[in-house]
Amino acid sequence: MTIAFDNTYVRDLPGTYLRQAPDVAPAPRLLVLNRGLLADLGLAMTEAEAAAWFSGASVPPGAEPVALAYAGHQFGGFSPQLGDGRAHLLGEVLGPDGRRWDIQLKGSGRTSFSRGGDGKAAVGPMLREYLISEAMHALGVPTTRSLAVVATGEDVAREAWLPGAVVARVAASHIRVGTFQFFSARGDQAQVRAVADYAIARHYPELLAAEAPYLVFLDAVIERQARLVASWMGLGFIHGVMNTDNMAVSGETIDYGPCAFMEGYAPGTVFSSIDRTGRYAYANQPLIMGWNLARLAETLLPLFDVDGDRAVDLANGRLDRIAARYREAWLAVMRRKLGLVGEDAGDAALADDLMAAMGGADWTLTFRRLGDEAALRPLFDDFTAMEAWLPRWRARAGDGVEARLSAANPAVIPRNHQVEAALEAATAGDMAPFDALLAAVQEPFVERDGFMLPAPTGFGPYVTYCGT
Ligand code: AMP
Ligand code: MG
Repeated sequence: MTIAFDNTYVRDLPGTYLRQAPDVAPAPRLLVLNRGLLADLGLAMTEAEAAAWFSGASVPPGAEPVALAYAGHQFGGFSPQLGDGRAHLLGEVLGPDGRRWDIQLKGSGRTSFSRGGDGKAAVGPMLREYLISEAMHALGVPTTRSLAVVATGEDVAREAWLPGAVVARVAASHIRVGTFQFFSARGDQAQVRAVADYAIARHYPELLAAEAPYLVFLDAVIERQARLVASWMGLGFIHGVMNTDNMAVSGETIDYGPCAFMEGYAPGTVFSSIDRTGRYAYANQPLIMGWNLARLAETLLPLFDVDGDRAVDLANGRLDRIAARYREAWLAVMRRKLGLVGEDAGDAALADDLMAAMGGADWTLTFRRLGDEAALRPLFDDFTAMEAWLPRWRARAGDGVEARLSAANPAVIPRNHQVEAALEAATAGDMAPFDALLAAVQEPFVERDGFMLPAPTGFGPYVTYCGT
């Protein structure tokens, strides 16, 4: 079998990447292969081919491996040069439906962008990316997806020696806010324009004919990010490292590092070990989204207008709308989660008042059990505020709400203690817990005993790590 690559990024955007070969994995072994996704991409291959191609043991014919250049604000501080330090874009394929996908390896060795890093990844974090991205996809969230995780047969040095692995992931593209920043920071506005033109053609072709294409491009990215982050908030998803290099202009969730799902509702929840100030805490995510979009707008200013002041005015006109646009997207998510049909002026207050009444109750199960007071009550330490809220909600929600709640609210999310247990077992060579958890999170609306409960007391506080 061959893969019919059609590598437009490499062809159309010279100067935005470096040609780099992935490391040859010494003893590739498939840990997990996404046959459904392979079929969606119109790809067929043997397991031996998948293990070789998706580990970097051999480069499939037609692939043109490159490391992409990008910059980024990391925790608010600007790094003019980041780039793929441990990833190789193999190329692009067109699915049977005509959609174009990047296929990228991560953990596949050093590149010219690696700085001090080893270019590698351990089995645990690569399986985490596979698991969480597949869960997000099943939950209906735009996201990169994972094709395979292949153990390389080589140990990597972390706090201990750990088995190494490569994840093969697919994305609508890997163009980030940081891609624009890389060229803008160098004063290379021609390259910013080239990337913008490419991104518009690839992700927003309907805008090509617009009178002010770069302004409407900014609007379109704002719109997709508002919806994306609203969907995260509805699920209690915490990305953990919303740096500008980890925000894709396609509107997909990208770069699963220290991400995790909030269990008990607490707006300040942070899991990432390096997020000491809570910059990327649950409730901050919409604000950070707006901050990142302002960084994107800055790179586009010269394309908005040759007059600098007018360009800033035009950008601000767009950026000023982000908060309202996000709030609208969030309200749409909350209406669905609450099983509300149509729109009512009191809906925002109803949603806000539930947040206020929740205390630390489990985010996921509260929505799932909203229609069943007997099952809901045990989730709360103090149900007093809910006693007042529930009748208001019932009056608004009306008949048939139970079915709407079950369709909108997952029973199963990747629970932190189960993710940890599955990754720990996989690192020790036992894939069974991972496989069982993966099967459960791939059907998140199906109630499955054993996969629905929050971490037992005594687990935690949960800490996640990135760059591992
Ligand atoms: P991240 O926080 O995972 O989005 O990565 C931020 C930057 O660090 C990117 O430029 C990565 O390519 C780079 N990086 C992360 N881990 C490694 C590693 N083990 N070796 C080389 N570069 C890395
Ligand atoms: Mg990244």
